[in-house]
Amino acid sequence: MYQSFLKDASLPELLLRVDADLARMAKAAGCRCRGALHVSNYPRKPRCPWTLPDGCDLRLSFSCAICRKRTTPPSALFLGRKVYLAVVVALVSALRHGPTPRRMALLKEQWGVPARTVARWGEWWRAAFVRSPFWRSARGRFARPVDEQAMPFSLAEAFGLNAAKPEALCALLRFLSPVSTRPWLLAQVS
Ligand SMILES: [Zn+2]
Repeated sequence: MYQSFLKDASLPELLLRVDADLARMAKAAGCRCRGALHVSNYPRKPRCPWTLPDGCDLRLSFSCAICRKRTTPPSALFLGRKVYLAVVVALVSALRHGPTPRRMALLKEQWGVPARTVARWGEWWRAAFVRSPFWRSARGRFARPVDEQAMPFSLAEAFGLNAAKPEALCALLRFLSPVSTRPWLLAQVS
């Protein structure tokens, strides 16, 4: 399960398009002071098992022409300041559910993520993430309660990721996209 995503080299391209959309919306909304937003991206060096298309080395961001305040739109590509692409953080953490030494070795081999990092992500999902205002404002929207102790496996299931469809993955990452804005995890679901 999910391993088929590894072979899908078009995934980053898909998420890049989602980010471009989110950035377009943020730019159209403009600054609170009504000033125009100018492009002011952050350079990033993301890690993932795919060869990345151009554009994945930038976190899209804007600054206001008048008050200079920054506007950083939500992102489906990046999860906060994590070095690995959001898709890797979500999938590898979900794959880890019920870890065995063999499974951890496979995760390292196929996805290039060390066991220690996977363990740290697990703690992040089940502690910081589930306690965040973002998750607390979003969890009531699911038809069936999402098991917080089985995060993010339970969340992936809620989005129908068992079928390993890129659309389901995109929907999950789009759902998570406010997490990448500042302040960290404080974003509410709108
Ligand atoms: Zn402004």
